[in-house]
Amino acid sequence: MKYCTKCGAELYDEAVVCPKCGCPTADYKAQSSKTNGMCLAIKIFMIIGCVVSGLSFLIPLAWTIPMTVTVIRRLENHEPIGLAFKICTILFCSVIAGILLLCMDTNTYDE
Ligand SMILES: [Zn+2]
Repeated sequence: MKYCTKCGAELYDEAVVCPKCGCPTADYKAQSSKTNGMCLAIKIFMIIGCVVSGLSFLIPLAWTIPMTVTVIRRLENHEPIGLAFKICTILFCSVIAGILLLCMDTNTYDE
């Protein structure tokens, strides 16, 4: 059992926010820094995907650039990214970035 650093309420060990005052716990910070690292990896792989597909086919840039911009914007605003969009990312932009998007549950952003 652990306790909220702000209000002293008892917390479940896996709690990321205090149920009483909503104050984030240490685990929450650890979890969000993990998510931030993943976001960064996704952005990098999407940009690499753009460059690679752009160099090899030229035409795909017409959709890889808008897709990359959309993904980066949604990650930064913590907006959910739909499953269809993630699959399109795998197919048309970057396989690695798409898989990372699928692994990261972007629909459970709560803040
Ligand atoms: Zn609290």
